[in-house]
Amino acid sequence: MLTVEEALEQILVRVSRLGPERADLLACLGRVLAEPVVASSDIPPWPNSSMDGFALNSGDTLRATPDHPAELRVAGTVPAGAVAAHQIRPGEACRIFTGAPLPQGTDSVIPQEEVDVLTGHIRVSRPVAPGEFVRPLGEDIKAGERVLEAGHVIGPAEVGLLATLGRSRALVFRRPRVAILSTGDEVVDLGGQLAPGKIRNSNTYALMAQVVEAGGDPINVGVAPDRRDAIEERLRWGLSADALISSAGVSVGEYDLVRDSLGQLGAELHLWQVSMRPGKPITFGSAGGCPIFGLPGNPVSAMVTFELFVRPAIRKMAGHLSLHRPTVRARALSPIPNPGHRRAYLRVSVTADARGYAVRLTGNQGSAVLTSMVAADGLAVVPPDTTVPQEGEVQVLLLKPPASQNGAA
Ligand code: AMP
Ligand code: MG
Repeated sequence: MLTVEEALEQILVRVSRLGPERADLLACLGRVLAEPVVASSDIPPWPNSSMDGFALNSGDTLRATPDHPAELRVAGTVPAGAVAAHQIRPGEACRIFTGAPLPQGTDSVIPQEEVDVLTGHIRVSRPVAPGEFVRPLGEDIKAGERVLEAGHVIGPAEVGLLATLGRSRALVFRRPRVAILSTGDEVVDLGGQLAPGKIRNSNTYALMAQVVEAGGDPINVGVAPDRRDAIEERLRWGLSADALISSAGVSVGEYDLVRDSLGQLGAELHLWQVSMRPGKPITFGSAGGCPIFGLPGNPVSAMVTFELFVRPAIRKMAGHLSLHRPTVRARALSPIPNPGHRRAYLRVSVTADARGYAVRLTGNQGSAVLTSMVAADGLAVVPPDTTVPQEGEVQVLLLKPPASQNGAA
């Protein structure tokens, strides 16, 4: 049986980055730039005031003191959005507001709180340094500068930067469209009628949410009963997406028909079964360049195998360079047993305190118990036949940013 690392490697070598497309700024959020961004102009495009006050020539204030203030004639006003009408001459100042361009003939600004304002004049009682309260031309960005590299992930600040440069769109890698199929005679979709022996379809919805969180666009191809023709039909629909995920029907029972159906469709199966718990029966294949993930049916097994194998693949397709969740070392607040012969991924809550990260099992680790997944901030990775003792160290995959002990972020 393959290790998790071997399986992941097999998967990632068979998954490639999608092509780029131009997208509106907000639609770029969380996506990866496909080309560098080069500034076409200086930002700010002209020296401007960082305060409401008076623009002046610093040379006029060289000898100013409280006893002998410099008296300057106010020769105009320049609000933000306007340009001073004429040059300011020696012995003059100009009323100025935050963001307004510095008038010709001035080199500095004194905040209004610091001057005595008389009719038509101001008194300045200290020397003002050249450049004081002035934001110089190109302070933030120089024309021609590469401000973002290809491969950079667009966050809110990048959106602001692009807007500053006048860009309403950017070239980013496509979001993978990921088809999701649930299988099982017992599985009833939302809106359908439950009957004895039947359960709700939760996998489709949890997996769609995981796809969105990973940066993909989910496509729900519904629920197929445990019948070859029905499974094949919906798998065929799903194969037109950039990737396909199925859940259930990949174990060894007579009703586990997903692998057979994939074979019927001409898919190549690259791996089946990975030495882990939960999630052992995971299957990976491909057909016509579409990667196919056959995830186990138990809700937590499906979610955990998505985290370990599908999420990195989706991120690679979306052009991300960093594919994996962060892992940290943490100390166990109570013993974490793994009596099984496979590596375990156990649901834990994670806190951060002065001694570092600390983890505790979130409760029942059954692979159908979703409530302990809800409570989990991470997955503790425990080697086979091992119990991590209380205060012992364990590796943890962080699924959410950990809460700090005192409740602060
Ligand atoms: P299987 O892999 O088909 O043996 O399914 C394993 C377990 O997962 C069974 O208890 C199924 O009822 C359950 N299961 C399968 N599909 C879903 C689904 N879409 N939503 C919730 N549970 C499911
Ligand atoms: Mg089944």
